[in-house]
Amino acid sequence: MPLSTANLGYPRLGHRRELKRALEGYWEGKIDRKALLSELEALERAHLTLQRDKGLTYVPVGDFSAYDHVLDHAALFGLLPRRFGYRGGPVDLDLYFAVARGTKEAPASAMVKWFNTNYHYIVPEWEEGVTPELTGEGPVERVRRARAWGIENVRPVLLGPYTFVRLAKGPGVEDVRRAVSALVPLYGEILRRLEAEGVSWVQIDEPALVQDVPEEHLPILEEAYAALVGGLSSLRILLQTYFEAVDHYERIVRLPVHGIGLDFVHGRARNEAALAAHGFPEDKVLGVGLVNGRNVWRTPLGERAEWLKGLTCYVSPERMILQPSTSLLFVPHTVKLEKKLSPELLQVLAFAEEKLDELALLAHALDPSPEIREAYREADEALRRFAAAHPFPAARSEEHVGPRKTPFPERWRLQQERFRLPLFPTTMIGSLPQTEDVRAARARWKRGEWSTETYETFIREEIARWIRIQEDLGIDVLVHGEFERSDMVEFFAEKMGGFAFLERGWVQSYGSRAVRPPIIYGPAAYLEPITVSWTVYAQSLTDRPVKGILTGPVTILQWSYAREDVPRETVARSIAWAMREEVLALERAGIGIIQIDEPAFREALPLKHADWEDYLRWAVETFHILSNGVQDRTQIQSHMCYSKFDDILDAIKALDADVILIETARSHGELISAFEEGGYPNAIGLGVWDIHSPRIPPVEEMVALVERALRVLPKELFWINPDCGLKTRKEEEVLASLRNMLEAARILRQRY
Ligand code: GLN
Ligand code: ZN
Repeated sequence: MPLSTANLGYPRLGHRRELKRALEGYWEGKIDRKALLSELEALERAHLTLQRDKGLTYVPVGDFSAYDHVLDHAALFGLLPRRFGYRGGPVDLDLYFAVARGTKEAPASAMVKWFNTNYHYIVPEWEEGVTPELTGEGPVERVRRARAWGIENVRPVLLGPYTFVRLAKGPGVEDVRRAVSALVPLYGEILRRLEAEGVSWVQIDEPALVQDVPEEHLPILEEAYAALVGGLSSLRILLQTYFEAVDHYERIVRLPVHGIGLDFVHGRARNEAALAAHGFPEDKVLGVGLVNGRNVWRTPLGERAEWLKGLTCYVSPERMILQPSTSLLFVPHTVKLEKKLSPELLQVLAFAEEKLDELALLAHALDPSPEIREAYREADEALRRFAAAHPFPAARSEEHVGPRKTPFPERWRLQQERFRLPLFPTTMIGSLPQTEDVRAARARWKRGEWSTETYETFIREEIARWIRIQEDLGIDVLVHGEFERSDMVEFFAEKMGGFAFLERGWVQSYGSRAVRPPIIYGPAAYLEPITVSWTVYAQSLTDRPVKGILTGPVTILQWSYAREDVPRETVARSIAWAMREEVLALERAGIGIIQIDEPAFREALPLKHADWEDYLRWAVETFHILSNGVQDRTQIQSHMCYSKFDDILDAIKALDADVILIETARSHGELISAFEEGGYPNAIGLGVWDIHSPRIPPVEEMVALVERALRVLPKELFWINPDCGLKTRKEEEVLASLRNMLEAARILRQRY
C-alpha cells in the first residue's frame, strides 16, 4: 500500500502570470468584474485539477486567493478597517482590493513579509470595539465548487485562529486569549459546515507555533482546539506547522486534534530530536513535510525514502501523510517552461508540479518497485553529480575576517579632512526615479531594438541630468541614480559567476506582483567590474563625492534561491568575497565613499531566537569581508530598510560602517528609544522622509525629526537623508521633497 499524500498549498500566478494580468486588467478598468472572476475561477480550477491528476490523496482547497490568503481570512471574519467605510456584513470585491492597495482617501493596510519568506501578506487590523462575524461561506463554498469540478478528495485549508491573532494588529488583539476565543466560534461554525459537506480532513495552518511561543499561550491553544474538536463528530483536524520546528513539541503534539503536520526540511534536526525524545502520540496522524516547498532543487529521493523508513519507528505507516514541507506558493509552477537553462541545471531542479511527482514517488518508499528504486537512485545521483561539479569552499577562510583595524574616530578624522563636508551632510540612498522612459529604454535594449551603445548613452544622459540637479539643489554626497539596474539583486547576480536566471519562473511577491529570484548554484565568482564605469562616469561630472552603491551578501542571498546542501553562511561568504573585489575596484578607481546596502539584514533573521546569534555572527562577518580592505580615508556607508533595531543594535554597531543610513519615518519614536538606551558610536542618518508615500513632507516636520534625534545622538555625526531609494517615486515629488530636505538642513545648520 502506498502512503497517503497531500499538498499544503499551490502557486496562484498561473503559467503565464494570468493572475497578474487579470488583476491589473481589472484595476485598470480593461476587464469587468465578471471577466476577472471567471479568470480567477479558471486558474483555481486548473490548479486543483492538476493536483488531483498528480495522484494526491488530499488536494488543498481554499489556499487560492484573489490577492492574499491572510486578507481572505480578515474579510471572512469582517475584520476590515473602518476607514474604508466598511461597517460589517458581506465584503465586496472592490472593498477587498481597497484594503490591500489603498484608495485616494484611505491608506492601505500594512504589508509584511510572511514569516521568513519573500511573500507579503496584508496585516489584519482588528479595531477597537469590532466583533468578528462570519461574512460569507469561505472555504465551504470553495469545497462545493471544487466538487462541481470533479475534485472529490479535498482538504480545505484555513489559517488557524492563533496565527491569525499573532499576525494581526490593533486593540482587538492586545489580549491574545480574548481575541482567540472571539474567533473560535466562527471557526467552529465553518468546521461544522465543512463536516456537513462530508469533508473528512481540514488543514488548519498554525505557522506561528514555530516562532517563540510564550508559555502562557499554550493554555489558550489547548482551550481553543478542545472547543473546536468538541463540536465535531467525523471531520478531522490536521494542525499544520511549517518554516521551522514546532516550539513546545510535547504540548503541541498533545493538542486535542487528529493530526499534526511538521516540517522535516527546515526544522529537520529539531523536529527529529523532539520526535526521538518524546515519541509521537499513538492516536494521531503525522503530516510528514519532506519535500522542500521553498526551494527549487530536486529532492534527494533515495535519501528521503531511507529516512522515512526510520520514521516508522515512531509512527506507523497508516498514520503518515507525506507532504511538502510548506505550501508550494514559494516556487514557480514548472521547470518545463524553462527553455534557456543549461541541461546540467535542468536535471536538478523541481518546481511545484515536479515536487508533486516526487511526493507520488515517495509514497512508495516503504515498498518500492525496481523502477521506483531506480528513480530514487537517479535523483540522488543527479544531485550528487551536480554538487561535485559545483563545490563551495568548505573551510572557513580566516582571511579578511574582522572589522577595519583603525578605530572609527581616527578613520572619521581622515575622512573629514578628505571630504570636508558641512555639519549635517545631506545624501540619498541610491536610486532616483525610474521613469517610464528609463524602463522603456531597458526593454528596447533587452529586446535587441537598441544597441548597447544607444542604451548606455541614454543612461549616461540620465545620470548627467541628475548630477546637475543634485548639485543645483546643494546635496553634499551625490548618487548616480542606479538607472542601469532593473533590480538590486538581479543586476549584481547577472554579472557574477555562480548565478542562473529563470525565464518563466515567477513567484508571487504580493497581490499581482511577481519576482524571479536568481538561483545561486555555485560559489559566487567575481568576473569583471560591475558598477565601476557608471560610478566613475558620474564622478567625472562633479567635484562633490559620488557614492559607489552595492547590494550586500545577506540581501543577495535572502532574495535568491540558494543551494540546499550548502549552509547559508557558506553561500553568503562566497558572495562576500566576490563583492569585496568590487569594493576594492571602486576604491582603485578613485571612488571615496562606498555604500553597502543590506535591506534584508533584519528580515533574514532566523525564526527562532536561539539561532539569532549564529546568524548575526556570520552576517556581520560578511559585511567585514566587504569593507575591511579599504583605506582609512575611504568611507563605508550602509543602508538598511525597516527600522526595528532595538534587539539587534549590537550587531548593527559591530558592522562598524562609518555611516549608517536607515529607514525611520514609520517608527521614529521606537528607533530613538533604542538609541537612547544603547547609543550609537559612528555616524548615522535617520531617514527624514517616508519615500513609500507620495506625500511631500514639510520642512518643519523634517526639522522636528532631526531635533528629536539630536536629543540622543551627537550632532557632529548626524546625516540627513530620505528613508530609502526613490526608484518608484515621481520626479516632481522627489524634487519638491528634496528641496524641503535641503531647506531643513539649512535651518538646522543655522540652529546648531
Ligand atoms: N540603493 C538602493 C536604492 O536606493 C536601496 C534599496 C533598498 O534599500 N531596498 O534603491
Ligand atoms: Zn531601503
